[in-house]
Amino acid sequence: VYNFSAGPAVLPLPVLEQVQRDLIALPGVGSSILEISHRSPEFIDIANDAKARIVNLLSIPDTHDVLFLQGGSRLQFSMIPMNLLEEEKSADYILTGSWGKSAKAEAVKEGNVQIAWDGADCKYNRLPKQSELKLDPSASYVHLTSNETIEGVQFLHEIESGDVPVVVDCSSDIFCRPLPVDQYGVIYACAQKNAGPAGVTMVIIRKDLLARGDAELPGYLLYRNHAEADSMWNTPPTFAIYVMGLVAKWLQEEIGGLAAMEKLNREKSSLLYDVIDSNADFYVGHAETDSRSIMNVTFRLPNADVEKKFFKSAEELNLTNLKGHRSVGGVRASVYNAMPIAGVRALADFMQQFAADNK
Ligand code: PLP
Repeated sequence: VYNFSAGPAVLPLPVLEQVQRDLIALPGVGSSILEISHRSPEFIDIANDAKARIVNLLSIPDTHDVLFLQGGSRLQFSMIPMNLLEEEKSADYILTGSWGKSAKAEAVKEGNVQIAWDGADCKYNRLPKQSELKLDPSASYVHLTSNETIEGVQFLHEIESGDVPVVVDCSSDIFCRPLPVDQYGVIYACAQKNAGPAGVTMVIIRKDLLARGDAELPGYLLYRNHAEADSMWNTPPTFAIYVMGLVAKWLQEEIGGLAAMEKLNREKSSLLYDVIDSNADFYVGHAETDSRSIMNVTFRLPNADVEKKFFKSAEELNLTNLKGHRSVGGVRASVYNAMPIAGVRALADFMQQFAADNK
């Protein structure tokens, strides 16, 4: 089956095979990864290895720390303003889709928020131009969602924010391309789309920002506690961290790093966008061309009946989970890092044939 789910999503096959082989007893350890203490030297080695591989993949400079947390990206929607929003200041939010709106909805509970741009008028089908952003030069931070998983619009470039730290939700596109980490204050991502299984959320944070959190916050919610304890402030999600380390290893050793991954992701998504563009009288892409996501390809068909037939015919060919998010409908093909190009080719061929048969 080629599974186009938006998340939890496909994992690289070699990673699943290694997990299967080693689940009962880790080589050299004799116990399962599920059974060993997070304080054991064996697990500390696994966690350090995962972190080192992520630092290497993203070329994370010494100015930034990597934390492995729980609670998903939704907890980050709250932890970010709790830790970073300073008194008498506000935070700028750029709303490019559903997840940006959800992040903002949590932030307003914690303090002052300004909307730097909102794509509601264009149904979140495009990114803002730099000149459209109303950024406050004294804001505590500016928040954006690098890939809107539901609408399928993606920043494949950085924004200019002067001295204001940029906080980016990379939940559905972490590791899809190299990132200039030094240009970000915080990069956060739940793992279950591009980085591993559900259960771990990675937070890459500029170290000077750790000082901002109020010591009166509940302990788990203070980034500083996790940084000082090397993500062992409480029991971390050991299995998810282990698998994330294997995914990072796969990216390094089998894909050849993030530049190679980006090239492959562009190639994969282009296969689908080319079919959409060459059948513009049948498929209607949601995102404007220069805002298109290379992770989630979103489009519509002429009517609900044809759409139903599309899903049914696709399922018969083992092309699954193509339904768009319930809030927007249509089709969404998620082609994360681990989706092999053969799967995308199979979908592109099917789409081409389906258009020819149903126009
Ligand atoms: N942000 C983005 C861009 C997402 O795609 C998702 C989940 O789909 C989330 C945040 C929420 O993540 P979680 O379910 O881990 O809280």
